[in-house]
Amino acid sequence: MCLFCDVGNHKADAHIVNETDKTITFLDINPANEGHMLIIPKLHVDSLVDLPDEYVLELMNVARKAIKAFEKVYQAKGYGIMQNGGANCEFGHFHLHVFPRFENDGYDWIYSTGEKEVSDKVAAKLKDAMI
Ligand SMILES: [Zn+2]
Repeated sequence: MCLFCDVGNHKADAHIVNETDKTITFLDINPANEGHMLIIPKLHVDSLVDLPDEYVLELMNVARKAIKAFEKVYQAKGYGIMQNGGANCEFGHFHLHVFPRFENDGYDWIYSTGEKEVSDKVAAKLKDAMI
């Protein structure tokens, strides 16, 4: 299997923050900021597409708990959720990144500056595929 499977089976060290029958949540070892956690299914799949519905629901319920924890612990007014899947999935094991966000925290990712013409083309390409 993989390192994340080992974490899920308690065979690898991790700062575990939460565990359910289908998920385990632990601190990212290279955090974007304090509180950055990974939520993984206890199932080795690399893509959201291959994850059974009950795991998707459980992951999002745990993400919601993480967001509430960010509010309590850090008084965070926002949060980020990110996932790299398929061929870009580290360890080949699906994982959600969740982290608190703060005003002027410097975190940023920008592909374009959002010009209408660019966005029109991108939306047109994706629209029919989002079924
Ligand atoms: Zn795995």
